[in-house]
Amino acid sequence: MSPSFEIKLPPADLHDVEALRNAVLRQGPLAPADVGEIRIERRSIDARGRQPVFRMRVVVLPPGEEFTPEAPIVAGYPEDVASAPAVAIIGCGPAGMFAALELIELGLKPIIIERGKDVQARRRSLKAIQQFGIVDPDSNYCFGEGGAGTYSDGKLYTRSLKRGNYQKALNLLAEHGAQSDILMDAHPHIGSNKLPKVVANMRETILKHGGEIRFGHKMTDLERTDNDLQALIITNPEGEDYRLEAKAYIFATGHSARDVYALLYRHKVRMEAKPFALGVRIEHPQPLIDQIQYNQRKREENLPASSYKLVTQVKDRGVFSFCMCPGGLVVPAATAPGEIVVNGMSLSRRDSPYANSGTVVAVEIEDLQPFAEHGIFAGLEFQRSVEQKMFASGDGSQSAPAARLTDFVKSRISKDLPDTSYIPGLHAAPLHQMLPQSIFMRLQQGVQDFGRKMKGYFTEEANVIGTESRTSSPVRIPRDQESYQHPDLPSLYPCGEGAGFAGGILSAAMDGQNVARAIAARVMG
Ligand SMILES: Cc1cc2nc3c(=O)[nH]c(=O)nc-3n(C[C@H](O)[C@H](O)[C@H](O)COP(=O)(O)OP(=O)(O)OC[C@H]3O[C@@H](n4cnc5c(N)ncnc54)[C@H](O)[C@@H]3O)c2cc1C
Repeated sequence: MSPSFEIKLPPADLHDVEALRNAVLRQGPLAPADVGEIRIERRSIDARGRQPVFRMRVVVLPPGEEFTPEAPIVAGYPEDVASAPAVAIIGCGPAGMFAALELIELGLKPIIIERGKDVQARRRSLKAIQQFGIVDPDSNYCFGEGGAGTYSDGKLYTRSLKRGNYQKALNLLAEHGAQSDILMDAHPHIGSNKLPKVVANMRETILKHGGEIRFGHKMTDLERTDNDLQALIITNPEGEDYRLEAKAYIFATGHSARDVYALLYRHKVRMEAKPFALGVRIEHPQPLIDQIQYNQRKREENLPASSYKLVTQVKDRGVFSFCMCPGGLVVPAATAPGEIVVNGMSLSRRDSPYANSGTVVAVEIEDLQPFAEHGIFAGLEFQRSVEQKMFASGDGSQSAPAARLTDFVKSRISKDLPDTSYIPGLHAAPLHQMLPQSIFMRLQQGVQDFGRKMKGYFTEEANVIGTESRTSSPVRIPRDQESYQHPDLPSLYPCGEGAGFAGGILSAAMDGQNVARAIAARVMG
């Protein structure tokens, strides 16, 4: 086996081959004549010391030898699954797309039904939200090809590594055009300028091997018996309904498809309430975060925009930063008119002058008391009521209510607001009155704790923006742990974030792969 080493490099030497070689030699065991090609297997930034350094695990080959590239996963796919047994997938997000690829690999035909548009046409819908405040309920930052993951930050790390084949999902992204750095970085990310192409390439693979993707087609109804799902009713772009029958049905509709939960409820499909979190998005100047994290007045070349992760406990509940987007943009992620929902995205270079992060509080049963009449949808109605209150504070556009961080803590309306990346604009508003009190008072305390943990974080230069409400689904569609089948309807496979089994791009992708394998095991015997 080729020897591997843990080495450190200053940022200035990141792309210097000689510096890399010298770092390996400094480790001792190898003489210069023994060092040939060097491959970086793992790379992370360590900013704990006085100066940040890159830490790397590298593998070294003797001179004259070469690393053999692994065969692409897609090279092993069957040529054409068009006439194989069909599996319907509702939703073309990461869960749906990775399920489709896995099904093809296993010899089944995926038919993806997606209410939104393909990545290219979807850009026009995003422009309409950003510039004119018009929200298309079928095509927006959450709905459309690639799902909520396409116009996102594209962070690819997950805490649920054990839940699936993380490496395979990363390899598939790289095979479809994501930068190869994602295979070595401890915190890989792709960026919204690259993701649409990666997603479009994945679509091409699915189509080339005989799968189907129907954009602008929406699941609007279903047929069931007491014991199983029989068919789905799909509405096509012309508004006509048709029946879709398949061997199995993967529901990968994401956490914002509230009409899907309503549809399932109408058909008495078992669901349950699930914990989630809600709060605000906080935006700082990126140079300030860099100064704090890297201890440098100006970020050194080769160092990426820095990030943070903060967590505290206030009155027995977690308050935590979530989905941090260094060098990113705050975006309007509403899925229906009349609501304000914000989220974060970035480009691959993460070079905007802003750093933003969701800052949220765990929602508990006591918060949901006023919505108790909605039963398992109490959390969803709680979410919706906050989103609508945020909208009502504005002028009917997607302008979001905001306060300076220091004013927010003092329960004051800001006289003016710092610059922002949020294109629809911000308006000063009494967020302290608009957020549920149990959430506000914990955020109020929490951000001051964050300021003590990270000196400089608590500043009047930061904007607090309402509202970060779609952190995860407030509803779970249950399934058997082993077979992935719904407990009452064996052909139904709840999947991804909307079913409550994922919380990000990679965990949704892995869930899609797992579900596809479970289906193949049943259908192919
Ligand atoms: C702006 C933004 C930035 C984000 N950044 C990151 C990040 O950096 N890293 C990360 O890990 N996660 C991020 N996330 C979260 C991540 O995108 C989601 O966790 C992930 O996309 C969930 O995947 P999914 O496939 O389960 O569902 P989704 O991606 O939500 O996909 C569901 C799909 O189902 C479709 N659909 C819904 N209802 C129907 C219907 N009735 N008929 C047909 N189709 C339907 C929708 O149109 C949608 O395309 C971000 C999310 C947003 C909104």
